[in-house]
Amino acid sequence: MRIDEETKRVYVRQSWLGDSMLCQERGRRMIVSPEFRTTNDSAAMGTAVHAGIEAVMRGVIDPRDAHHVSVKKLDQLRDEGIKVTNTDPSTWEDLVRSMTNAWVSGIYPEVPLGGVSEKKFEYNSGAVVGDYELWFEGTMDYSHESGLWDWKTAARKYSLLEKQTQSIQASVYAGHALSEGMVDEDGTVSFTFGVMIRTMKGDSQLVRIKRSSAHVMWVTEQAKTLVGSALALRSQDGSWNRSWLKNDQHFLCSDRWCPWWSVCKGVFIQDTDNQLGEQ
Ligand code: SF4
Repeated sequence: MRIDEETKRVYVRQSWLGDSMLCQERGRRMIVSPEFRTTNDSAAMGTAVHAGIEAVMRGVIDPRDAHHVSVKKLDQLRDEGIKVTNTDPSTWEDLVRSMTNAWVSGIYPEVPLGGVSEKKFEYNSGAVVGDYELWFEGTMDYSHESGLWDWKTAARKYSLLEKQTQSIQASVYAGHALSEGMVDEDGTVSFTFGVMIRTMKGDSQLVRIKRSSAHVMWVTEQAKTLVGSALALRSQDGSWNRSWLKNDQHFLCSDRWCPWWSVCKGVFIQDTDNQLGEQ
């Protein structure tokens, strides 16, 4: 979330909204101490695969060469430093190759050509929070007049139902597509996750969901309530030094997955506190 005091706009990105829905304090920390964020292995592999895909979608390389671009990007990220979580670094290169090739063989043939890769967007949600207009902003992996696409690398296959009922990302992006008139005959926006599974086998999955103006209104309502709580807790000098709700009831709250663990839950709870006794 960022605030432009001149235009009186609050800008929200879907990734920040999604994380903050799980833990508001995590959302606050992203604003006040972004330097804690390090690139972890899952994110690095995803970024590397994206680099290969983007080069293909921009027409810079032949799809058969995409994996070379991906591995080069991985090498660059390795030089900058990657935090190891739950993967073996000796497998990263093969996994990146396999996921990029899975995209080339299983997903690329389904992608309608002629769209825009890495499309930046921003739009006014129409909501007002306090003195501010609420805007969404972001970058779409691929936008085509027939629908929106996002490339994902994941440890396991996605649940279609879960994405249809809960995807914040699809709802935020659909708001932009609706404002541009990119709608299907039934008035909805098509959104496809092109998922590459992190295995040596090179599996992929297409997860196609729909978004309507109802989904956009709901995600706007969610963002409005979150931004409203944040503004209510802002100090008079405009700083964000008061803590937000610290929720640990989700998988990201751990030493491994939360960059702010050491200054948050880790201050109270050590590994030894969670050791199980004799059962
Ligand atoms: S350690 Fe847990 S409670 Fe604290 S910011 Fe991270 S996710 Fe939230």
